[in-house]
Amino acid sequence: MTRDNAFARISDFEQNEAELVATRQYLHANPELSFEEVETARFVADKLEGWGYEVTRNVGGHGVVARLKVGTSNKSIGIRADMDALPILEDTGLPYASKIPGKMHACGHDGHTTMLLGAAEYLARTRRFDGTVTLIFQPAEEAGVGSGAQAMIADGLFERFPIDAIFGLHNHPGAPAGNWLMRSGPLMAAADSVKITISGKGGHASRPHLTIDPVVAACNLVVSLQSIVSRNIDPTQTAVITVGSIHSGEASNVIPDTATLSLSVRSFDPTIRSTLEKRIRSMTAAVAEGHGATAKIDYTHGYPVVVNSEKETEFARSVAEELVGPEKVGLCHLIPGSEDFSYFLEHKPGSFLRLGNGESSQILHSSKYNFADESLTVGAAMWARLTERFLA
Ligand SMILES: [Zn+2]
Ligand SMILES: [Zn+2]
Repeated sequence: MTRDNAFARISDFEQNEAELVATRQYLHANPELSFEEVETARFVADKLEGWGYEVTRNVGGHGVVARLKVGTSNKSIGIRADMDALPILEDTGLPYASKIPGKMHACGHDGHTTMLLGAAEYLARTRRFDGTVTLIFQPAEEAGVGSGAQAMIADGLFERFPIDAIFGLHNHPGAPAGNWLMRSGPLMAAADSVKITISGKGGHASRPHLTIDPVVAACNLVVSLQSIVSRNIDPTQTAVITVGSIHSGEASNVIPDTATLSLSVRSFDPTIRSTLEKRIRSMTAAVAEGHGATAKIDYTHGYPVVVNSEKETEFARSVAEELVGPEKVGLCHLIPGSEDFSYFLEHKPGSFLRLGNGESSQILHSSKYNFADESLTVGAAMWARLTERFLA
């Protein structure tokens, strides 16, 4: 036996491929929304218990944590899969399409869950590692605010189940199935939203001097906000401030009392993220004051930036290159979408990986999207080998 044969290979999963596909398609047919993953969590936890894992249910809501210790090492690796579906009416026409109208696995979390289950079964059967593998099945990734990752961390995830590093993956439409994309440092954006209400003093359109016109203040603010990215952010970095809506007034002969603006703010760096917030707040206050108006700001922080640590990303890259060959492991571009895996990475070093879902795959969150079953053995083998190499 060569050294390479001592670690999991894709061929080790081919004999169980039909079962992996059946599991994925079962989950696909039975989607549950964020905060409602009761049956999915039960399905996952029962299987893990059957394979001999020490299973803890209801961690941060419907989260499931499964641990298996082999040997004497105190090292532990954490691997996370998300379990929730989306409020979308499926339009794939698949024989195993969602049985529940208006709920759909349109982000591939059915595939993510299945791949981690596949690795779990293999690791429990072969036990070729020294240390503890900690499998984290997370609910409510799609929640936006108050998500499953936050809830699991608040429920003591890392104190109750200590780990040295954490890994996760998302399928990636547009890249060939079975190919990996990785990136050290920032990978996915922080996405914040801001609602601004400018209050002036309404009145007759013919007597503007007796009013404080919120429309003029709001329009000035839209223009002034454009200077933040262009004048306050390092030109080698990237950020977006979009004013997506502006509403005020009803009639041409009435000056309204208020104007409201909604902004989408995206960035790939925590420092830039806080600079954007500071500048938006001060610019808004100053422009409103300059017009004699007042401004109220509701600043909603979405998921933070997904920042992969260098050592763990390079480790994952080396494992993926052994598994599928270096020609199938590439550099991932920055992704403007966001992911709550970022909260785990605020506490632990780790890496969020992207696994190709096919060049002709529909986009994520589309009613025609489907997870590529041909990736299942690759993803399961990756988690198994990553564990064996991390806990070698
Ligand atoms: Zn999603
Ligand atoms: Zn997703």
